[in-house]
Amino acid sequence: MKACLLRSPAPIESNPLEFTDVPKPEPGAGQVLVRVLACGICRTDLHVIEGELPQRKMPVIPGHQVVGVIESAGTSATRYPAGTRVGIAWLHSTDGTCEYCKAGKENLCNNPSFTGYTVDGGYAEYALADESFVYPIPDGFGDLKAAPLLCAGIIGFRSLRLSGIARGGRLGLYGFGAAAHVAIQVARHWGAEVFACTRDERHQKLALELGAVWAGGTIADPPAKLDSAIIFAPAGEIVPAALKALKKGGTLALGGIHMSPIPPLDYNLLYQERVVRSVANNTRQDGHDFLRIAAEIPIHTEIEVFPLEQANRALNSLKNDAIRGAAVLKLD
Ligand SMILES: [Zn+2]
Ligand SMILES: [Zn+2]
Repeated sequence: MKACLLRSPAPIESNPLEFTDVPKPEPGAGQVLVRVLACGICRTDLHVIEGELPQRKMPVIPGHQVVGVIESAGTSATRYPAGTRVGIAWLHSTDGTCEYCKAGKENLCNNPSFTGYTVDGGYAEYALADESFVYPIPDGFGDLKAAPLLCAGIIGFRSLRLSGIARGGRLGLYGFGAAAHVAIQVARHWGAEVFACTRDERHQKLALELGAVWAGGTIADPPAKLDSAIIFAPAGEIVPAALKALKKGGTLALGGIHMSPIPPLDYNLLYQERVVRSVANNTRQDGHDFLRIAAEIPIHTEIEVFPLEQANRALNSLKNDAIRGAAVLKLD
């Protein structure tokens, strides 16, 4: 099968993904083989490719926002008939036995595997998944438009939950890429007022089109104090600015898997019971809850489509803030 393979981490400007032929995988016990129709591109892919995350499987096929159809199943995988359209997301498997899994916090599992990082992902014609970790895709979404729901959408949704934003509350979104452009639609559905802080003017414009009451620069002061905020940009220097914009008792959630160092904080920024917390992965429950809500609203994803063999070009665009909404790879 065709795939985009990363042999060793390197800056994306050097186009390190090799479009090549690799053996088509075989489903093992409990697994399904998915024929990939679309795969969303996530900033985490860039962190894997550029070596900002510790190296795990190498070479590796990146990609963890996979939409496809089940082509075949391994032994004891009987949940879905062949032809079912499913999504494969970042959380590929958990042990189910550690203290976190037992406590309903499988996103924090001690022995997880991750799609497109510790196992091969969806920048390929086929991908494997554990049948208990795939998500049926609601009918209302086309294949390409559904892809960004699987990480940008689900992680954005978990970030919203952890930010504690309530109906009628004021929410700040820092960075306005794929995750924020979905999260704003959920937040508005919940009746929140959204303030978008992002350095790129095109992203500010998109935020206003999607119903933000205000959009400005990353460290500009929003015109009202915020109940909650989420930082999606991987830039630790935003943390003091976001804390400064929060009300007393407000929560700042950090939505990314990687962030540059956070500068020393003046305690006054944190005092008055402000909370800073990270967001790590998601539970399957988050995923199923989000996809149900996404279909109800319904969420509209803005996408830029690239053919599989142009994954390097898509990732370069992402790094340069040049994607409006989310980039998606289309398979033939
Ligand atoms: Zn576990
Ligand atoms: Zn992701």
